[in-house]
Amino acid sequence: MTQRIIMDCHNHSNLSPDGDNPPEEMVQRAIELGIEHYALTDHCEINLFYEDEYPYEEPVRKASEICPLLKEKYADKIDMSYGVELGQPLQNMELTNRVLSTYNYDFIIGSLHMCNGYKDFYELDYNEVSAPDLLKLYYEELLEMAKWAKFDVMGHITYPLRYIKGDYNMDIDMKPYESTIKEIFRQLIKQDKGIEINSSGLRQKIGTPFPDAYYINMYKQMGGKILTIGSDAHRTVDLGKGVTECISLAKEIGFNELTFFKKRNPVFIKI
Ligand SMILES: [Zn+2]
Ligand SMILES: [Zn+2]
Repeated sequence: MTQRIIMDCHNHSNLSPDGDNPPEEMVQRAIELGIEHYALTDHCEINLFYEDEYPYEEPVRKASEICPLLKEKYADKIDMSYGVELGQPLQNMELTNRVLSTYNYDFIIGSLHMCNGYKDFYELDYNEVSAPDLLKLYYEELLEMAKWAKFDVMGHITYPLRYIKGDYNMDIDMKPYESTIKEIFRQLIKQDKGIEINSSGLRQKIGTPFPDAYYINMYKQMGGKILTIGSDAHRTVDLGKGVTECISLAKEIGFNELTFFKKRNPVFIKI
């Protein structure tokens, strides 16, 4: 029996600088794959919003026009949400508040791709910078984001490991961050916010989702209920990849439902 791809709640079209396909191609591929609940979540990197290299202002505005039209056009074929991956929201609060009050998102992933004053984790040379020091900064800023909590789920909470452990093959002791990670979960749970399982690591060098079973289990044990799953595809060929594996993992850990967001409200889906 082919397993249902119940959702893909994290992926990017060419309205993101690193995405390949137009939004409509992403939606059509999602339909082809039989994805039941689908959220397109292009990047909005708050600290880079007005950068010369890739100003986010224009694509973020375009997504607000295109996504509602696609939702309507394909409404009888797929349950679609207009989402965003909001990066570094605390690094310019005034702009973040403006973006959040301007656009009618169904779903917001709160992510941190770079610590304040540093480059994106994927751009850093870990022979030059101290991975443990950066991870400390990373989890401290994630904790501040969890307290602020104007998103629905926190994105890929072990993102730096994609590069540090995966690409650089460095052995990292995560114990020093454990109490902060627990505090992040406490804050999220208290405010009815969730986490995602980002399946992209399954098709990358690291070979585990972000986060892996250890943290998903910790979140569950602490009372976490809101859980989304996304492929973090940046092209149609990666859509839905790893989602069924992550659903199995969630079930093993004891989740019997996933969450999909419509108009920022959680809808629980049995698995
Ligand atoms: Zn991300
Ligand atoms: Zn992403």
